[in-house]
Amino acid sequence: MDKPSKAKTAIVIHGGAGTILKSKMTPEIEQAYIEALKHALKTGHAILEQGGSSTDAVKATIVTMEDSPLFNAGKGAVFTHEGKNELDASIMVSDDLSAGAVAGVSHIKNPILLADKVRTDSKHVLMAREGAEEFAKEQDFELVDPKYFFTQNRWDQLQKILKEDPDKMQLSEDEAKNSKFGTVGAVALDQAGVITAGTSTGGMTNKRYARIGDSPIIGAGTYANSHCGISATGHGEYFIRAAVAYDICALVEYKGESIQNAADIVINGKLVKMGGDGGVVGLDKDGNIMMSFNTPGMYRGSIDVDGNITIEIYQDK
Ligand code: ASP
Repeated sequence: MDKPSKAKTAIVIHGGAGTILKSKMTPEIEQAYIEALKHALKTGHAILEQGGSSTDAVKATIVTMEDSPLFNAGKGAVFTHEGKNELDASIMVSDDLSAGAVAGVSHIKNPILLADKVRTDSKHVLMAREGAEEFAKEQDFELVDPKYFFTQNRWDQLQKILKEDPDKMQLSEDEAKNSKFGTVGAVALDQAGVITAGTSTGGMTNKRYARIGDSPIIGAGTYANSHCGISATGHGEYFIRAAVAYDICALVEYKGESIQNAADIVINGKLVKMGGDGGVVGLDKDGNIMMSFNTPGMYRGSIDVDGNITIEIYQDK
């Protein structure tokens, strides 16, 4: 008798999109990114293989990237105009369309975990700044000293912009020297067929006025329903205006587009026309993996339903 086949699982992640050029990369830094992406993927995939939920897989995956100074999320987040770190994160689960998000927090080590707490333990979807941190305290989250988020590279990046063009806001990867970092995201499908999508970021360098990007906005930076799950990275203002994550899922659900076509329509069509830089990763209910971006590179990786692992950085492989 044939063994009953195990239900399919899959996971896809990104570590930010932007002007990431091989010519500006050293082999050591490239290797560090590959290792960090691999570690993130394997962490989430192990949970899925053991029958864990896609929500637990997405959270654990994103936590590894928030804890790595290589990415613009958690430790290693970019600085605001005033020299602070203000972090945004969101998560959404397909089976009940539940969602949680936090924006502008500056004492939370792993914003993705707080976003999920908002989803599971509050009546709200999005909490911001001091209010979100008050909720975190009530939920027994440890608040960290903002110094925890400091990295010299990010600090230097802000100083450079302040000198050159203080009014400019910049994607973390758009200063294509040798050590650039990015927003992080993960989308997973578990054995129960549930899709979870999550995103975490420090936003854009030199942001001010408590600016919030797309990452904590459900439907823009993150979305998951029974057809598809999406996590985005890029110039948030455009992603909000184009409702990127939801738009892709709507094309899959209502128009029957494949998830890759749907993403390409939005990222390489609609967004390009608007002038918005960035990309998305996602998967559909059958575990088909999608990656799409309109920048020279996007840190990205996946483990598909057959267990094949892919890690890529540049547009041209
Ligand atoms: N989407 C983020 C924001 O606009 C930035 C990024 O993806 O790097 O805040």
